[in-house]
Amino acid sequence: MNKEEYIAYLKGRKSSHKVNYHLECLKEIRKIQQEGRKPSLLLHACCGVCACWPLEFLHDHFDITVYFNNSNIWPAEEHDKRLSELQRYIHEKFGDDIPVIVTPYDNVSYTQKLEPMKDDPEGWQRCFFCYEERMNEAFAYADSHGFDYFTTVMTFSRQKDSQKINGIGIALETKYEHTKYLRSDFKKGGGQTRSAELVDEYCIYRQDYCGCVYSYMDRHSEQG
Ligand code: SF4
Repeated sequence: MNKEEYIAYLKGRKSSHKVNYHLECLKEIRKIQQEGRKPSLLLHACCGVCACWPLEFLHDHFDITVYFNNSNIWPAEEHDKRLSELQRYIHEKFGDDIPVIVTPYDNVSYTQKLEPMKDDPEGWQRCFFCYEERMNEAFAYADSHGFDYFTTVMTFSRQKDSQKINGIGIALETKYEHTKYLRSDFKKGGGQTRSAELVDEYCIYRQDYCGCVYSYMDRHSEQG
């Protein structure tokens, strides 16, 4: 890891020159409303906590399909638990209105890709790779299946750099012919507060680490 580059990145993150992607999202929704459309949206989701508010927020405006491709999550039991909690929430709140696509779980191959960056601090290059890997896979699915929009719930997390995630989404959009990237910052606009209410109301499981084995070890060595 290049320490100077990392410090420069952290300083840049604090700068005030940030795009308000929540406002950009609202602008796009307003445009869709004026056109009288309800477009299709493929929503990458990683867990119930991050997805509960984006699903409520987007549900009236988009015809949503959830895409769960999260081979980063270790171990398999944790992957399955986050998935089943997400499915339970969706079923209890929206009935059968929102399909969930689940891709095959392959944490061994995924961890091999992360391994060269295993010593990176959370929120740095390993994570940038991890965001892009899953977003690109989901975006490719969205485009090849004719979805109008793609986005990810990951901008909800305070631990993740939403400027970076949106930058990845905007760059990926140029690769794909049909599907547009929906900019977002789900933690804004009351998202954090409403999410906490939904987590309580639906008793959604709240994990204490991001997902990969390295984030698990970091968190649990901090606690130990
Ligand atoms: S900490 Fe989270 S985002 Fe970063 S590499 Fe691990 S699973 Fe991916």
